[in-house]
Amino acid sequence: MTTQSLQINNVEFATRGERLQGTLRLADLPRLGELLASKNPASEQAVKDLAGRQDVVSEVAFQLGGEKDAMDQYILHLSIQANLPTFCQRCLKGMKIPMNLNFSYLIAKVDDAALLDVDELALGDDVDVQPPDQAMSVLALIEDELIMALPIAPAHDFSCTDVQKMQSGDKHNPFAVLKDLLKS
Ligand SMILES: [Zn+2]
Repeated sequence: MTTQSLQINNVEFATRGERLQGTLRLADLPRLGELLASKNPASEQAVKDLAGRQDVVSEVAFQLGGEKDAMDQYILHLSIQANLPTFCQRCLKGMKIPMNLNFSYLIAKVDDAALLDVDELALGDDVDVQPPDQAMSVLALIEDELIMALPIAPAHDFSCTDVQKMQSGDKHNPFAVLKDLLKS
């Protein structure tokens, strides 16, 4: 999929009840990639290598659906599944953050949205407003949502020692990175 095809006229998209789905490369999401890399400033190159690996390049999948509801409101539904490579903030080893996100957007001018009673929307609590846009970037929207959902300090679920025990045969010393830092 080319990134050019990821622009939609969001009102028409909703009116026609269109569907769009695809997978994205981390390279398509440079702001996100930079943020993931910043979790370990000592190995920026390692993140670049990680992002370039075949098994991680297409790990952001999305589905977008449009809808014009019974109240003549234009709605978009977005689902994102991702497995983002970054670094554990405790042991600095590479880790992946699985994400499964769902969003709904009401397409409305901000002035109109201010007048709407959100309770009447019956769309749930997390309804964001998107202005009508003839060329809304789906790519930028996905990137923004992933950046906002990213934990500030990602860390292994189990204790890092357990993770290292599980990776049998991996004798890599987690403090090697620190040692390198001290040397430089
Ligand atoms: Zn860890």
